[in-house]
Amino acid sequence: MQAYNQSLQRPSSGARPRSYKTECIILRAHPMRDADRLVVVLAPSLGKLKLTARGARKVASKLGGHLDVLNRARVAIAVGHTFDVVTGAESEETFPSVKAALPRLAEALYLMELADLLLPEADPHPASYRALLESLRALQDGREPAAVARHAELALLADAGFLPELRRCVACGAGVQPDRHRFAPALGGVVCGVCPGASAGTLPLSLSALKVLRHFAERSVGGAAALDIGPAVHAELQDALGSSIRFVLDRQPNAAAFVERLSR
Ligand SMILES: [Zn+2]
Repeated sequence: MQAYNQSLQRPSSGARPRSYKTECIILRAHPMRDADRLVVVLAPSLGKLKLTARGARKVASKLGGHLDVLNRARVAIAVGHTFDVVTGAESEETFPSVKAALPRLAEALYLMELADLLLPEADPHPASYRALLESLRALQDGREPAAVARHAELALLADAGFLPELRRCVACGAGVQPDRHRFAPALGGVVCGVCPGASAGTLPLSLSALKVLRHFAERSVGGAAALDIGPAVHAELQDALGSSIRFVLDRQPNAAAFVERLSR
């Protein structure tokens, strides 16, 4: 996969280079003092990085538009004291169809926030990078935004070590019997109908929704988005994964509430 290859000299503790290059996805951007911008990016093999872009908010800036949120860009970075500094940037994919349609944009921004919240800084997470990039491309191609988002949630949870268990009861280990299971976000997956005390804080989960979750966990985003899923099952998926994410993060991502309001 050529898109993930990169010419970079990884900053290591030994002989730390003064500059490096990487491709990255822009997760978020904030104004800083003067005309500077703080950008949080995800790079395939360097993980999440906080960088400053000097003068990026000036009209004549050569960096500005390349560092917009959602863009995939190639950046040149100089090692700095507090933050490393972007010295050059060129956007490679800007996902115009995503930015132009609110339902797609809302899900995309939600996924950027989710990756930012789930991933620690400077810790390589190539699978999360791949999941975000494939999700952005699927949204750009007009795939169903909710399916893309649920698929990405599972991929990001899996890469962070929190993939929900979908086949065996997380309390007793028995195979889940059809239609007797519930979903237990705090326990990290499904519980069988037999385990006592495992019902606190659990959600009902239809067999259809469980099967879709298993399918999503095993397939590409294209395979996930090709499934014909009714609104009731979509709502169940959103509840189950949203609850898992709230449990893992101990909060709800800001953009999740916005997406919910938008979808009503
Ligand atoms: Zn059980």
